[in-house]
Amino acid sequence: MVSEHDVPAHLSKIFLEHPEKIADYLLTSGRLAVILLDRQGTILDCNPFFLENIDLTEKPVGQSIDAFLSGGLPIDKDLDRGDCRPIRLTLALHHSLERSLSGHVIEVGNRYLIFAHNVRLTDHELFATLSKLTDELTDLTRQLNKKNRELESANITITKLMNTDPLTELTNRRKLKEMIDKEMSRARRHGRPLSALMTDIDHFKSINDTYGHDAGDRVLVQVANILRMMCRKEDITARFGGEEFVVILPETPVATAVECAERIRKSIQSTAYPGIDRQITASFGVTLFLADDTEESLIKRADTALYEAKQSGRNRVVLK
Ligand code: GH3
Ligand code: MG
Ligand code: MG
Repeated sequence: MVSEHDVPAHLSKIFLEHPEKIADYLLTSGRLAVILLDRQGTILDCNPFFLENIDLTEKPVGQSIDAFLSGGLPIDKDLDRGDCRPIRLTLALHHSLERSLSGHVIEVGNRYLIFAHNVRLTDHELFATLSKLTDELTDLTRQLNKKNRELESANITITKLMNTDPLTELTNRRKLKEMIDKEMSRARRHGRPLSALMTDIDHFKSINDTYGHDAGDRVLVQVANILRMMCRKEDITARFGGEEFVVILPETPVATAVECAERIRKSIQSTAYPGIDRQITASFGVTLFLADDTEESLIKRADTALYEAKQSGRNRVVLK
C-alpha cells in the first residue's frame, strides 16, 4: 500500500524517468515563470509565461532583468553553488503598474535559475492599493482644479489686455469697434436712441513739446479718468488714438449726449494738471446713431463734428 509520505518518492522517480516531459511542461504550458540569468542578471533564457508577465512576445535574451523590475534583482551575492532561496520579483509594467512574482532562485553552475508564480494580492493589499490610488486621484483632481482656476484667471488677464489701452486702461479701439456693432444692433432692434461722442485734446503736441512726453502721458491718464468719472457705467469710454477718445452712450438722445459732452469739456478745462501751468481743453463732436449707420459712418460723422469744433475755435462741442 502507498502511504502519503511515499508520494514524493514516487514523483521523484517519475521526474527522473521522464525529465523531458516535466521540462516541456514547465517551459511551455505551466503557469510558472522560468528565467535563467547569468550572475550579472543578464537574461539567458525564459519561458512564455514569463514573457506574458512582462507583456513581451520575443525573449529579451541579452537584456538585464533590471530593465523589467522595479527595485532591482533581490539575489544575495553569497548565493552559492546549488543554493535555493525564496525570491520575490516586482515587475514594472506600463502606467506605473506593478506585478509580483514569488518563487525560488537556484544557483546552477554559475547561473541563476528562477521559478516563480504570480502573486495575487490579498484583500487587504487590494484595499490598500485602491485607497492609495483613490488618494492619488483626489490629489490629481485637486491639482487639476487649481490649474484650471489659474488658467481661467490667466484667460481673464489676457482678455483684459487684449481689450484695454495700457496707458489709460480705457477700452481700446479694437474692442470699441466690436462693442459699437453690438450697441448699434441693439438700438436698431429695439428702436432705442444711441449717441456717440468724440473728443480730441487741443494743442496736445505743444503740451508734449513744452512739458515732455511723460507729462503728456499723465495728462492723457487724467483726461481718461475724467471721462470715466463723468460717464455712466453703461457708456463705453475708449481711447481711439493718441489724444482722441470716443464715448458711446446707449439709451441716450443726442441732446443728453451734448449735455454730457459739455460737462466733460468743462471738467477737462477746470482740472489742474500737476506740473502743467496752463489750462487744458478739448474739442468735441457729437452725433446720433441713424438706423442705416455702420460703425464707420457713425464714427465718421462724430469725427466731422469734431473737425468743425477744431475749425471753429476749439474747446467746444459741435453736433452733427
Ligand atoms: P489739435 O488741437 O489740432 O488737436 O492739435 P494737437 O497738437 O493736439 O494735434 P496733433 O495731431 O498735431 O498732435 C497730437 C500729438 O499727440 C502728437 C503726438 O506726439 C501726441 N501723442 C500721441 N499719442 C501720445 C501718447 O500716447 N503720449 C503722449 N505723451 N503723446 C502722444
Ligand atoms: Mg489734439
Ligand atoms: Mg488728434
